[in-house]
Amino acid sequence: MTLRLFNTLSGQIEPLTPADGTALRMYACGPTVYDYGHIGNFRTFLQVDVLRRTLKLLGTPVRHVMNITDVDDKIIRNASAAGVPIGEYTAKFEQAFFEDLEALKIERPEVVPHATEHIARMVELVEKLAAEKAAYKAEDGSWYFRLTAFPEYGKLSKKDLSANVTGARVDVDEYEKDSANDFALWKAAKPGETAWDTPLGRGRPGWHLECSAMSMEFLGESFDLHAGGEDLMFPHHENEIAQSETASHKPFARHWMHVRFLLVDGKKMSKSEGNFYTLRDLLLKGFKASAIRLALISVPYRHQLNFTFDGLTDATNAIDRLRTFHQRLSAANFASGENSVLQELIKKAHTDYLEALASDLNTAEARAPIFDMVRAGNTAMDQGEMLAGDREAMLRVLEDFDAVFDVIRDDDAELTKRALARAEGAGRIDEVSAELRESAALTDEAIDALVAERTQAKKQRNFARADAIRNELAAKGVILEDSKDGVRWKRK
Ligand SMILES: [Zn+2]
Repeated sequence: MTLRLFNTLSGQIEPLTPADGTALRMYACGPTVYDYGHIGNFRTFLQVDVLRRTLKLLGTPVRHVMNITDVDDKIIRNASAAGVPIGEYTAKFEQAFFEDLEALKIERPEVVPHATEHIARMVELVEKLAAEKAAYKAEDGSWYFRLTAFPEYGKLSKKDLSANVTGARVDVDEYEKDSANDFALWKAAKPGETAWDTPLGRGRPGWHLECSAMSMEFLGESFDLHAGGEDLMFPHHENEIAQSETASHKPFARHWMHVRFLLVDGKKMSKSEGNFYTLRDLLLKGFKASAIRLALISVPYRHQLNFTFDGLTDATNAIDRLRTFHQRLSAANFASGENSVLQELIKKAHTDYLEALASDLNTAEARAPIFDMVRAGNTAMDQGEMLAGDREAMLRVLEDFDAVFDVIRDDDAELTKRALARAEGAGRIDEVSAELRESAALTDEAIDALVAERTQAKKQRNFARADAIRNELAAKGVILEDSKDGVRWKRK
């Protein structure tokens, strides 16, 4: 099965296969490490994770490069305000970024280059552009890309920018929405700014240059796929194409993937609206990392997602259904053999799941057959119709589901513990929800002791005490399940 993915450049859904016949070479714009990542950023990284996991599941190895932007206007401004060198300023946020990726189970790309470690390649690229007469040095010592040198400018975003190509210059990393200007390749250092002494003069690379230089360094001048959030399409990706193709005379990335923005409670996320959340904010409110992952990937990447707390609760419940089923299926005893009706149903669920993912990463449609299978599996177990061969087949389907969705494997308790430790380190412990704080304070041994006391109380027909213990544990986020093999407990 081959993945068919929408290509922003062609405007069509096209098969995505490695041009070199071995591994899919892909580049995704990484974070600028000047602050904690918000859930909008993570939606993009998660959808790129869905892409790379789907490719691998369908049998295509990937070579995935993601840059770390560790020098830019905001970093220089913030580091200088904090009175620390930029490397010290960015190290903290880079570490936080990788901790967040880990919490969300986003796989680490094969190559993660830092902009500041590849300055020489960026300088070379500007020199190449200068030789093509597409780059020029301005009075202040900065270098600009001459937009008129690339007549195809605008081919990705399909904007008609011809009327806007004025020769005016823009030297900041933040842009107006609709104007195309000569953009900075290399910025001359202002007094006191972090800078490198190079043949171009003393300065630092522009953000666009960084992605062109590092993608071509690790993937070649032409590669398979370039991905990023929809906000990067113009001007960032247009600028990357202009620089790269002018220098190489070859097509840059042949396939482009853009992930749509999310809304929070129906509105654009912003600090002033009070609907702005980092991943850390949500973990401290007591939401599980797995639920945040599922909520952020369940709406396909080309659709706008409206993120709500109700949506997170739904995701929590959905994961609970999957994990409970997985546990029940794994633990039960079945007679050997196969039930042909179930086998048929499992095969169909598996095919429908893979087909939906292969069809432009339709995660919403991919989920549906899995939950149908879980329902049918529970009914079959209730009615004693499940056989050992059916269990094996269902477990294999769940394994393929988790190869992309990765929510059945349960590390939530450990991830929550780490989030709390970080909150303590950051002086945010008073923001932690009361339930989460109490649950964290309760050790597994203490829970076992209370569960044993409740069993004893029930034996002595002291139901008031037994109920009181159940309620106390529930208030601290621990759920009890009575079964014929005794009592099982789990943290909510
Ligand atoms: Zn980029």
